[in-house]
Amino acid sequence: MTETICLHRIHEHNSDVPPVFHDINMTIHINDLLVRLSDLDAENRLNNTTTLVTFDDGWRDVLLIPEDFFSKHETLNPVIFLTDAQIIGDLTPMPLHRLYKWMQENDFDLDELSQLPINREDLKNLRITEQHRLVSHVTGNIQPTCEYLKPTEVAKLRANGWIVGSHGPEHSDLRLLDDGELTRLLSTTYSYIQSGDFKPWIAWPEGRWNNRIAKIARDIGFEQQFGIFEESRRGTDTRVVLRKLW
Ligand SMILES: [Zn+2]
Repeated sequence: MTETICLHRIHEHNSDVPPVFHDINMTIHINDLLVRLSDLDAENRLNNTTTLVTFDDGWRDVLLIPEDFFSKHETLNPVIFLTDAQIIGDLTPMPLHRLYKWMQENDFDLDELSQLPINREDLKNLRITEQHRLVSHVTGNIQPTCEYLKPTEVAKLRANGWIVGSHGPEHSDLRLLDDGELTRLLSTTYSYIQSGDFKPWIAWPEGRWNNRIAKIARDIGFEQQFGIFEESRRGTDTRVVLRKLW
């Protein structure tokens, strides 16, 4: 069986994305991506199967993919997962993305990150407002623009057959929330999904989930849930689809 795929950034020129994305293998050259996807489509046809090609974090990079690509490669179904903010058109950069952009503008590389009072893993363990506070400590309050999809662009992708699901109420480790708060937040997410007529699917931020939060999401109405194969600290519920990072 071909795994469900998870992608983040796509670039045409190396400088299109901050260097950190190259360092942590979270960006792929558009030509490489199209070749790999075409190969996968050919393989799927032989095996009479299909693959979900999912994109996290709402980057506009997906617009580099030719508009007719997926209609010509029908075994591949494109999906974007957006946070609540992105769904309602609030394109405030996420904390890590702010930090990466700041690093790019200040010629700071990944190794030098250890000189800052901040690190990627610690950040990921905080709620989003705390992440922002810490990042501001380093970068100041300047909000760089990050190239996320605007609602009009999302609508256009949907018109071309793309599926849109949730990337969680906020981009943080949602396992850290208690039942009550997670239920409240996910219910809001679910109402956005319903009013936008999106898919009641959720891709857990950073692929971080456990059986408790998977059950909460299922009880609220999320029909499909996605983790990431490479994230080992996860639940055992086999109904959660594990995606392979590309
Ligand atoms: Zn994400």
